[in-house]
Amino acid sequence: MNDNCIRIRGARQNNLKNLDLDIEHGTLTVITGVSGSGKSSLAFDTIYSEGQRRYVETFSPYARQFLDRMDRPAAERIEGIPPAIAIDQTNPVRTSRSTVGTMTELNDHLKLLYARVARLHCHGCGTHVRRDNPESIATTLLSENADETRGVIAFRVPVPDNFSVEEVTTLLERQGYTRISQADDSVLEVVQARLRLGTRNRARLVEALEAALKRGRGMVHVRITDERDGERHQSFSSALHCPSCDFDFHDPIPNLFSFNSPVGACPECRGFGRTMGIDYRLVVPDPSLTLEQGAVKPFRTDSYKGWQRALVRRAEAANIPTNTPWERLKEKDRQWVIEGDGKKGRDSWHGVIRFFAWLESKAYRMHVRVMLSRYRSYEVCRSCDGARLVRDALNWRLGSAADTRQFLQDAAPFVHPDARMSSDDQLKLAGLGIFDLMQLPLDQVHAFFKQIVLPAPLDEATEILLGEIRARLDYLNEVGLGYLTLDRQSRTLSGGEVQRINLTTALG
Ligand SMILES: [Zn+2]
Ligand SMILES: [Zn+2]
Repeated sequence: MNDNCIRIRGARQNNLKNLDLDIEHGTLTVITGVSGSGKSSLAFDTIYSEGQRRYVETFSPYARQFLDRMDRPAAERIEGIPPAIAIDQTNPVRTSRSTVGTMTELNDHLKLLYARVARLHCHGCGTHVRRDNPESIATTLLSENADETRGVIAFRVPVPDNFSVEEVTTLLERQGYTRISQADDSVLEVVQARLRLGTRNRARLVEALEAALKRGRGMVHVRITDERDGERHQSFSSALHCPSCDFDFHDPIPNLFSFNSPVGACPECRGFGRTMGIDYRLVVPDPSLTLEQGAVKPFRTDSYKGWQRALVRRAEAANIPTNTPWERLKEKDRQWVIEGDGKKGRDSWHGVIRFFAWLESKAYRMHVRVMLSRYRSYEVCRSCDGARLVRDALNWRLGSAADTRQFLQDAAPFVHPDARMSSDDQLKLAGLGIFDLMQLPLDQVHAFFKQIVLPAPLDEATEILLGEIRARLDYLNEVGLGYLTLDRQSRTLSGGEVQRINLTTALG
């Protein structure tokens, strides 16, 4: 007798007719047959169902009460069955909130990883922003300057509205501060200490920095006098603050990196990455027409010819040519047509924009809804540029400058909507933002995580997280899905792709 098989005797589940069957372990067995012959009854409702049931039996009664009760499949005997997993071929996903990233749970792991170890770069200037403390500032100052360079440690005090500069100066002098200068109209700069920057002086330096940070509400200004370069200024902050742009940042929490969370979702598109709006290419579909000929298509209908008459009349009054083809009108004249003249009153032109706003207010009527739908289209969200996330989330990066060059050179990096950098400068930033990863093919993401060096020492949780991410990416590439991206919408995947992804999570 062969023990190395699943032995089924007298299976009668659904339409099975007292079936006897042996299936060998460790081999690939295919069940074929015409529709309705009982393939699913055998595979899902008998074999898988019995495997699941026995697996659940191994749990304690306490754990079992949280699981659905499973009925024994109709069969005389089923032996040699291992724990089972089943993947069916339906793709039940219809929401655009589900992506390859959410399906594989990689997004869940990535948001945790970014919150733990990503580095913050100011979106304005790209500077690596971190919290400074007296020790870290001292280390920076000592490593960047020659021994015995002269330094002045200072902090700034704002002059409150109801005080004069003299009054505040007197108060500070009473506390022992004697070197006070005016940084600008309402801010005083107060010297905490003047000293030589050198390892010999490190303790004094740390002490001065600590006092200055405290008095300066987390900011310290250092003036360095160098025989060669003259005087230099450097600012440090114990908050997440970019001193050159004067931007404040916050510590990240995992949900900041999730477009399915109200914390992380872009407020404009609510995490969809796209917004629906009026598409003006559909409003003026034939640019060879003049305003008089009805370049604005919705005004050509009988119901809205009043708008057409008003447009031509007001355009003539505003000296905008009504018999020049749309494509030859000046940009500002086209803008006038679409956006209006910005004036109020009976003789003003409110623009095609106003027409659509007025239609929206009538959208309870069926024919208006049909009309609106003809001119609507999805466009990439202007607030997040399609990244789906709040802008704060897009400042955090993982990896090195070499990684940026390797993975983003040809991919065109995602540029932060508030960036004041060119895309060339963007390529000099160290590491990849979370949306960069979302847009890379999985085989590239795989390569990135294989070589990534995270700042040591890693805590245990981060090690586990990284291991989990690598394992899933290994698997996805092994099953040949390396061409997909994490932000690919699940509903656009084929049945075979969905099955292979489901297998990853079943095994992971
Ligand atoms: Zn900055
Ligand atoms: Zn958005």
